[in-house]
Amino acid sequence: MSGMEQGDYDVIVAGAGPAGLAAAALCAEQGLRTAIVTGPVNPFEKRHDPRTIALMRPSVKLLEHLELFEPLKPVSNPLRKLRLVDDTGGIFTAPTVTFNAREAGWDAFGWNIPLEDLHPALAEKAKELGVEFIRDSATGVGPERKRIARLKLESGDELSAPVVIAADGRNSRVRGSASMVMLRHDYDQVALGCFFDHSAPHDDMSTEYHKPQGPFTTVPMPGRRSSLVWMVKPEKAREIMQLRPEQLARRIQIESHGDLGRISSPTELKSFPMQTMVAHDFAKDRVILVGEAAHAVPPIGAQGLNMSLRDAALAAELIGDAFAFGDDWGGEKVMHEYDRIRRRDVFPRKMAIHVVNTALLSNFLPYQMVRAGAITLAAKVPFIRDIIMRQGLAPSNEHVPRIMREEEMAGAA
Ligand SMILES: Cc1cc2nc3c(=O)[nH]c(=O)nc-3n(C[C@H](O)[C@H](O)[C@H](O)COP(=O)(O)OP(=O)(O)OC[C@H]3O[C@@H](n4cnc5c(N)ncnc54)[C@H](O)[C@@H]3O)c2cc1C
Repeated sequence: MSGMEQGDYDVIVAGAGPAGLAAAALCAEQGLRTAIVTGPVNPFEKRHDPRTIALMRPSVKLLEHLELFEPLKPVSNPLRKLRLVDDTGGIFTAPTVTFNAREAGWDAFGWNIPLEDLHPALAEKAKELGVEFIRDSATGVGPERKRIARLKLESGDELSAPVVIAADGRNSRVRGSASMVMLRHDYDQVALGCFFDHSAPHDDMSTEYHKPQGPFTTVPMPGRRSSLVWMVKPEKAREIMQLRPEQLARRIQIESHGDLGRISSPTELKSFPMQTMVAHDFAKDRVILVGEAAHAVPPIGAQGLNMSLRDAALAAELIGDAFAFGDDWGGEKVMHEYDRIRRRDVFPRKMAIHVVNTALLSNFLPYQMVRAGAITLAAKVPFIRDIIMRQGLAPSNEHVPRIMREEEMAGAA
């Protein structure tokens, strides 16, 4: 990259959540001098998180690539079946639809991995690959000088590199300082999450019960244990969060219609606000947005971190290729390509999630009809089922960075 000032690093990542750590690890393994500014949370520390992450086949492929899948397997569970149950009690009720990975010729759609294990594992891997961890917070980017971006830190320090990857979450300060606009919709809803035990086997099946206030989803964990994601209105969430453990267990049992037998030992509930946010530009002026800094969606259809890992892998791929060819890896070509590819993957998924969620929350009959009709089609028409399974759960190679592609899949699932 002739005529360009050398920065302190080749790549700086702001934010050491799972998306930022994956991006940093994948950049460092290509020989790029990579630093990550961690923010307020120590990523090496295992802290309880009630979220388990259903990672679909391309994401499992990324973990395999980083040699993290085998170590995480004992705490993870395969997802062999996905079931949608219309529990709205409306006039138009859809039949229950179950997608079986075998129909697509796979052993599993993916694996369900606790975030509290995945997060520190990614941090250790990034460190092992040579990423430098900086315990500070980013306050924003300064004006670009001589094709070098500058990241300002709370300590008053400033770091420089040809490209900054902003992975500092949905309230990203880096994104704000770069004047990158978000399109945003807040729902009158929160997601509650916890783990619980049950007496009946889950058969490696995740069930999404569609209820009038949002989906109630159980996701299988090893043994007779599952995680819960329950989307409800804030008033109802407050009421549920006051339940004693045995009352909560009973409530989960009722809401899941006893499908998992007797429920016991729920862990403490945590609530997450629900929004749809998506960036107008995914990359601009040497700043690339990844993870929730670029998009945040409600946990319907397990899309959030799956999309974020595709962001991370694509950012690393485009930067790494330009670096290997001696091009400007923070230049306009990389920005444009990243924006083009990620936009085409993220926008339709964000829209589909928004439509499903809005249709559930709405009392408007035509919405309910459309939702019930779409699920009926999925239940009855093999062609539609195939599209949903392949595109919804394991998107086509067009949107998938090289290291996550299906043909390279070595029987992970
Ligand atoms: C209940 C629930 C269930 C979910 N289930 C699934 C699922 O099954 N499948 C799926 O794919 N996704 C799922 N998701 C989504 C997934 O959890 C998120 O997409 C993912 O955790 C976001 O990761 P991230 O790295 O983008 O953001 P974050 O985890 O928010 O990381 C951002 C990081 O940036 C740091 N930071 C903040 N400010 C600064 C700063 N100024 N400077 C530097 N660092 C900073 C923070 O400390 C944090 O470490 C679920 C979400 C919820 C709420």
